Amino acid sequence: MQDGFRFRCYPDKAHQKKLMPWIGHQRFIYNAKISEDRYFQRFKNRFREEIEEEVPIDQQYSHFITELTPWLRDVPSQVLRNGVVRWMQAYRRFFKKLGGRPTFQKANRKQSVWLTSELFSICRRNDRWFIRIGTKKFKIGEFEFVPHREFSRLPASVVLSVEGGHWYLGFSNEDDQYEPTRDEIGEYLETFTCEDLLERTIGIDRNTPAGKQVAVSSGQAFAYGETQKERMEKKERHNKRYQKRLSLQTKGSNGWRKTRKRIANNNRYTRNIRRDVMHKASRELVDNPRVYVLAFEDLRIQNMTKSPDPKQGPETGKWLENGAAAKAGLNKAILHSGWGLLYTFTRYKAQRAGKLVVQVPAPGSSQECRLCGFTHPDNRKSQSDFVCQRCEHTENADFNASGVIKTRGVKVVLSGQWREKPPQKTLRLKKRQVGPEGSEPGQSTVRSPVETRGKPRGRKRLNAPVEETGNPHYNASGV
Ligand SMILES: [Zn+2]
Repeated sequence: MQDGFRFRCYPDKAHQKKLMPWIGHQRFIYNAKISEDRYFQRFKNRFREEIEEEVPIDQQYSHFITELTPWLRDVPSQVLRNGVVRWMQAYRRFFKKLGGRPTFQKANRKQSVWLTSELFSICRRNDRWFIRIGTKKFKIGEFEFVPHREFSRLPASVVLSVEGGHWYLGFSNEDDQYEPTRDEIGEYLETFTCEDLLERTIGIDRNTPAGKQVAVSSGQAFAYGETQKERMEKKERHNKRYQKRLSLQTKGSNGWRKTRKRIANNNRYTRNIRRDVMHKASRELVDNPRVYVLAFEDLRIQNMTKSPDPKQGPETGKWLENGAAAKAGLNKAILHSGWGLLYTFTRYKAQRAGKLVVQVPAPGSSQECRLCGFTHPDNRKSQSDFVCQRCEHTENADFNASGVIKTRGVKVVLSGQWREKPPQKTLRLKKRQVGPEGSEPGQSTVRSPVETRGKPRGRKRLNAPVEETGNPHYNASGV
């Protein structure tokens, strides 16, 4: 089972200056592999019949180091290799349907470099922790990191990252504890009776109007603290002002950069609060020893946050009001509530604990009576009150809804619907022009010009040269 922590660390200016190429070059290799893979995929699709060999997915990277990219030699080769391995891991996750096809890492987002054990060492002096980074040839130095919690053993690898000027050290610990699969958990729970499951299931309802962010059928509720809310609102207000200022500033100027940094800092603050609250809430939900199943409303956050299509008037051709502004307010509330985060966190924590998180269909959950199942719009007297028109059951509307979700959750488990269908494959047919000379069939060993995003160390965009060799990169065992 894998577990991870992220600690703040404090490299000084000199360290940072030396570390940036490590980060940039690892990203360069990662992105180069993506370009290469995309090229091969395109090639394969175009000349499906002519190509008999499988397209290579390998961990070769030496062909990216050429006379055009001599600076790649300025960092230890292990840093570059780790870039390929990272890409490979992302690719394997994609194959197992655990994620999308790897995409380009961008130079203006959170930056990180993955360091394996030969590139760093950790030591402790006078109750303070230090990490020393470098190899014999490429020394970077030693700086402090501050573990805010205990860790049981030293990590085999670390991820050093920088975001908005803050540096972090990510530990990942693999322990020997067995983690049950989702199938094992679900099949075990299917053997329970309905009554047993009702006892051991909780329903979790997202709710924004009542001020709390999450209502649970067990009577718990989670919300941001008053101070947190105040500060988040303040940051939000400031950001509005900064956005306005930003739009008037010259792009790329010092002032513009400063404003952008301020906005990013504010956003990071809000994001951290949201993650913190949702981590704690999910921990509490999962740690409840009486609970085996956690049922969430299936809200398809992505669909809900999409803005409506623009509408055009039938004759005038003018753009009509499409409710985007009204929806924007709702979007903000949904995203603000961190609902998606809570689901993600709860899901992985539950799996480690041998518990099951299910999504249940959402429609009508706010109008259904959790006791007799009677569904009617009139049941919902107001935003906060629920009065059943048949059995007169009266309760806070959100807790009634979470009760309904709980019942639906039990049904989902017993009917086997907890199994997730694999995402549907859609076949896309694209008309493509046959490329320029050079993309003739039979030349499958030609490596494409590698497109790269970002420019490591401020150089011009680089194209790795086309290499014509006898397909030395095919490595059957490397897949
Ligand atoms: Zn009722």
